[in-house]
Amino acid sequence: MPLRLILVGPPGVGKGTQAALMEERLGVKPLSSGVIFRAEIEADTDLGQLAKSYIDRGELVPNGVTIQMMLKRLRSDEVRKKGFVLDGFPRTVRQAEALDVELETEDVSLDCVILLVVDDEVVVRRLAGRMGCTKCGEIYHSSNKPPRREGLCDKCNSQLLVRKDDNPETIRERLRVFREETAPVAEYYRAKGLLREVDAAGDAEEVYAEVTKGLPS
Ligand code: ADP
Ligand code: ZN
Repeated sequence: MPLRLILVGPPGVGKGTQAALMEERLGVKPLSSGVIFRAEIEADTDLGQLAKSYIDRGELVPNGVTIQMMLKRLRSDEVRKKGFVLDGFPRTVRQAEALDVELETEDVSLDCVILLVVDDEVVVRRLAGRMGCTKCGEIYHSSNKPPRREGLCDKCNSQLLVRKDDNPETIRERLRVFREETAPVAEYYRAKGLLREVDAAGDAEEVYAEVTKGLPS
């Protein structure tokens, strides 16, 4: 049975890192709304142009286009076959409700929703200094995980880039949006008995061990 999982947590908590480990080790398809939006921006599509104005300010992209974009991905054969781990979606209760309708229509259910918990200060420290590879997506950090050569990816030698929304002011706004819009999503799934909370202060392997504990195999 393919796994169907959701990762919920503040920006910078390590959702993307955990999703990548799950893809590698559990074979599930990671679906990251942030990665998909950034690809749309890169390709300069209509959706990308719309999304950019919100993302650069640390605000949420409107529910309608976000839901449409993510449901389309969920309907792919690959996702149907492998299962999924969602990262960054749903981020509002409206989005969670739309996802529920979709899963019901597909006659499948979620295995688990994992809430990654960490202090705000840790998040700010992790995001300020974060750099990503423009080609392969590998993430670096100026002090925690510096690349061997400044500004270049260890893996593929491509240019590293600091995300425009990873500046202190926008990070604060994203944390505020998380508390207001996304924390209720965790409560939505808690009420359904699907939520598991995991302390995400440790390193990626420690968090992964906790995250996958008790998953159906
Ligand atoms: P982070 O989790 O580090 O904040 P993401 O890469 O997940 O970063 O998202 C970056 C930005 O993309 C968000 O700040 C928001 O503007 C937009 N975004 C991502 N997912 C959603 C969503 N489900 N609904 C609305 N906006 C979203
Ligand atoms: Zn790279």
